[in-house]
Amino acid sequence: MGYVDLHLHTTASDGVMSPSEIVRYAKAKGLQAIAITDHDTIGGIAEGLEEGEKLGFEVIPAIEISAEYSPGSMHLLGYFIDTHHPLLNEKLGELQKARAERNPRMVEKLNRLGIQITYEEVLKASGGGQVGRPHFAQVLVEKHYVRNFQEAFDRFLKKGAPAYVDKFRFAPKEAIHFINEARGVAILGHPNTLGLNGYSAMEHLLLELIQDGLKGIEVYYPEHSSSEIAQYKSLAEKYGLLMTGGTDYHGIEKNGLDIGVGRGEMKLPYSLVEALKMARNQS
Ligand code: AMP
Ligand code: FE
Ligand code: FE
Ligand code: ZN
Repeated sequence: MGYVDLHLHTTASDGVMSPSEIVRYAKAKGLQAIAITDHDTIGGIAEGLEEGEKLGFEVIPAIEISAEYSPGSMHLLGYFIDTHHPLLNEKLGELQKARAERNPRMVEKLNRLGIQITYEEVLKASGGGQVGRPHFAQVLVEKHYVRNFQEAFDRFLKKGAPAYVDKFRFAPKEAIHFINEARGVAILGHPNTLGLNGYSAMEHLLLELIQDGLKGIEVYYPEHSSSEIAQYKSLAEKYGLLMTGGTDYHGIEKNGLDIGVGRGEMKLPYSLVEALKMARNQS
């Protein structure tokens, strides 16, 4: 059996490869299956599935939803979602609306900081998909206001930076609910970004999310340390949660990170996908 990557972005959100490109790339790399997990949008799924069918390559329809949480950020992954589900589409529509209101405000803030940037330039950078901060970063780099992508975030775009504008997010419970309604398997993405300290804080949160319908944790992730991986694994075993993993490849990387392998440390067996399928069939 081959290897898989269950966390990938395309041009439908803030990745640089189109859905069909990423499917072809994954196949060329020798992977057995991938999941397309764009932020807050299913806009890339149809194209990805179609390319997969054409090539005889397994593509899992999925999504990554940003949920309301502090002190850090919470991303909920939904695997095998039914992309035609009305509630899912209604909720994603609300997120699109929130972005449409937020993005021009970020342009205004940048303009007030003396940066000449237009919304049209950002739209162009997005390539027609959903617009996000990475597209702002790209324009700032292209126009030489910053030297690189990371500097754009650090100086202007990250939370608390002068051009940052917050956007509406669903409560975790609501995001998990509509993932489940759309027959998706809800997984807590990269728990190390939650800003939680220690095992018991993590355990407490997980118990709450399990009540809300969470089915698993993304254990394997390039930014997880080996002790974090051990902690998430032990909690998953304790509560019978699924364990997933992926690289979160956007194509704009980041110290040699690549699809499927991360920085060389990742080997995610196809059995992760089989476990997700079993969970889906049980609910
Ligand atoms: P948005 O959905 O528009 O708020 O943009 C969020 C995306 O920006 C994330 O998915 C990352 O790809 C990227 N991002 C967020 N924070 C940072 C950061 N501090 N450094 C680099 N990229 C970031
Ligand atoms: Fe992203
Ligand atoms: Fe994420
Ligand atoms: Zn992601």
